[in-house]
Amino acid sequence: MTDYRIFNNDDAMRFADKHSELFGDHSKLSAEEFGDGNLNLVFRVSNDKGTSLIVKQALPYARCVGESWPLSTDRARIEAEVLRVHARFCPEHTVEIRHFDAELSAILMEDLKQYTILRTALIKGKQYEHVATQIGHYLAHTLFYTSDFVLTGPAKKAAVAQFINPDLCQITEDLFFTDPYCNHERNNIHDLIISTARELWQDEALQAEVAALKADFLSKPQALLHGDLHSGSIFVNAENCKVIDAEFGFYGPIGFDVGSLLANFCLNYLGCAGLLADTEAVTEHQTYVRQQCLTLWQVFAEQFSQLMSQDSQDPMLRNSLYQKQFLQQVFADAIGYAGCELIRRTVGLAHVADLDKVSSEQQRASIEKQAVELGRRFITQRQSLNSIEQVLDLLPL
Ligand code: ADP
Ligand code: MG
Repeated sequence: MTDYRIFNNDDAMRFADKHSELFGDHSKLSAEEFGDGNLNLVFRVSNDKGTSLIVKQALPYARCVGESWPLSTDRARIEAEVLRVHARFCPEHTVEIRHFDAELSAILMEDLKQYTILRTALIKGKQYEHVATQIGHYLAHTLFYTSDFVLTGPAKKAAVAQFINPDLCQITEDLFFTDPYCNHERNNIHDLIISTARELWQDEALQAEVAALKADFLSKPQALLHGDLHSGSIFVNAENCKVIDAEFGFYGPIGFDVGSLLANFCLNYLGCAGLLADTEAVTEHQTYVRQQCLTLWQVFAEQFSQLMSQDSQDPMLRNSLYQKQFLQQVFADAIGYAGCELIRRTVGLAHVADLDKVSSEQQRASIEKQAVELGRRFITQRQSLNSIEQVLDLLPL
């Protein structure tokens, strides 16, 4: 890392200029750092014609905390390489990486300024019908084509090694699977739900189920995950969606990516009751979000099944009964991980705006309790829920 230095606007501009042909000698460039993210620097570099690219640089620590939380800059390599692999299998819904520099831990990528972050749109009550279909397609293709159904044994092992991501996996291992279930100082718990949190700390049966999900997260390298697929990692516009921010990527259980997004839809479903103007708007938006959850699972399951039956390379894994059982287990895993996401976004360190923006403290507390309860049911009932319809029946009306 001899050449590494933390970028200022000028560095970002030079980096973008050097690695693209968009700008040219005579056009005047400008740059601004505008990332609202937690971990990295994000610059927009524009020329005087309005053409722009994004420069994202990993700092040797977590941006939101500072130097007291060191973090490997290798996460920039992971992000660039995951997004490039995913773009090979689903270019239409993956942000385009234009250049990656390992020494500078810097990525040059397409600017999605014509898009909105999905979470922001959902919080405003905006409804895009195509999100679930497109992201279901993204999940089916990126996860299937990086799995044992396709890769040879040696190729799979090389891929697992390429995406060993200890620092960022540890964040998930701690924040997602451990902290919410004990009185950890990192937790962020609103006063009015402290008794709900305490129940989690004392619930040994629930903790046993979370332990099983965590053990799978640690030791089930099924496919190359995005690793952080929440509604803040998806850009959307009137026709399309694109996934960004894959620095948490690694080989893990397929259900983790699917479940993360399902849970973020559920969090919005619950939060919108305290965010939108009147009950009619809430009902309409909740109907939309419920439909998105249904479609997300259906499209994912249909396309993943089709890919398994048509494109599996390993002769043993072509067995259709095995494939059916495999998908059933992915479903149970996804519901379990969705449950963990619901809980950790409510009592853990990193909250979501869908709940935090609810202005009435009383109403926010009752929504947060619903989120924890829904999470608990997802986790404990995941093996006996047989369909996505049954899962969605657990959502409060
Ligand atoms: P971090 O990994 O630090 O959380 P993100 O990748 O989530 O950073 O990016 C932070 C913010 O920067 C996003 O919420 C978005 O506003 C902006 N951003 C990131 N990538 C792009 C992009 N390709 N096009 C436009 N804006 C982007
Ligand atoms: Mg990130």
